[in-house]
Amino acid sequence: MIFDIDKIRQDFPILQQKIYNRPLVYFDNAATTQRPQRVIDALTRTYTEYYGNIHRAAHFLADKATEAYEQTREMVRELINAESREQIIFTKGTTESINLVAFSFGEAFIQEGDEIIVSEMEHHSNIVPWQLMAGRKGAKIVMLPIDDDGRLQIEKLESLISNRTKLIAVTHVSNVLGTINPVKQIAQIAHSNGIRILIDGAQAAAHLRIDVQDLDADFYAFSAHKMYGPNGVGVLYGKKELLEQMPPYQGGGEMISEVKFAGTTYNELPYKFEAGTPNISGVIAFGAAIGYLQQIGIENAAAWETELLNYATKQLLTIPGLRIYGTQVEKSGVISFNVEGVHFFDLGTMLDKFGIAVRTGHHCADPLMDHFDIQGTVRASFAFYNTKEEIDVFVAALKKVISMF
Ligand code: PMP
Repeated sequence: MIFDIDKIRQDFPILQQKIYNRPLVYFDNAATTQRPQRVIDALTRTYTEYYGNIHRAAHFLADKATEAYEQTREMVRELINAESREQIIFTKGTTESINLVAFSFGEAFIQEGDEIIVSEMEHHSNIVPWQLMAGRKGAKIVMLPIDDDGRLQIEKLESLISNRTKLIAVTHVSNVLGTINPVKQIAQIAHSNGIRILIDGAQAAAHLRIDVQDLDADFYAFSAHKMYGPNGVGVLYGKKELLEQMPPYQGGGEMISEVKFAGTTYNELPYKFEAGTPNISGVIAFGAAIGYLQQIGIENAAAWETELLNYATKQLLTIPGLRIYGTQVEKSGVISFNVEGVHFFDLGTMLDKFGIAVRTGHHCADPLMDHFDIQGTVRASFAFYNTKEEIDVFVAALKKVISMF
């Protein structure tokens, strides 16, 4: 045991609950994680002690709120090793971060006939924004396929690149398969062909140490709610020379320098992309979540989650008729599976009655479901606060449920 898991669990009030009179087993962490008391306190403290609208007013509360908001920006910069704070744009989540790039990069750099490569394992939020942009600009989406074991066929990447390819959009970690993609290598291939890369880090940021400079990412997107932080907060990192050339995504307050009916000039980075009043308390509390995560240590969390993954995988594979989707060695704590003869939805609903929270369905990854010719899976996903005892409870409940069908 790398850290004191009992003590860690005490930090999360929601985990102390009973569901249907049974201790909660929360295995839906890929959908959203739970929050430690420190994050909940940070939200409350913001509203009780220093809430005001940021950046604009010359009064004490606004100054304090602005300082705390900007402090989180610096914490995010440090967390992902970005060169400068101007490259950290707060959004409402990964989805908005990707939509921002699809719109603004599209406006600046995409011409009719250009191509975007998107992998087959992407979440809908890293497919649909590109389709919308492609529809607007007359561009084309090209799919990078996967193997049946959940590996990206990156050996095919070069052959999919044409002289019209402008960007590769790929997830760092699959929310269904758990596959950790070789994004640094993909970035190298992209850049050696003069192509940009957007990495969807929604499933990576809480589980891997991210270094955007080492990855040489052009854009990197993630969400606070999957990192023990508040929902409604996300981040877009971008290379400065690109962000500077891209037009604003939304118009409104804060993103302008000067507004005249004859024409408007825009604010500097990152404010050019932060129109309107943002999620002030959420961003401030995200700072508390990052502090908490740093204290746990992302490497420690990842090592424990890998132990849980291996422990659960071994037990699940003893169940007759159970198939796991995504069997890569480089894998994060996500297990998607189906059991022959039992619908995934029935499995999930019955597990809930044992107090076990898993996700069922297509996981916003229809093309991936099509690849495996399935409608959906059951997905169990782990966080550092989960235990082997919980996995034992889960496997025993699963066996009981299966025996009922
Ligand atoms: N990409 C991946 C890989 C995800 O798992 C998710 C969330 N399920 C998203 C993008 C979208 O994140 P959000 O809903 O926080 O915008």
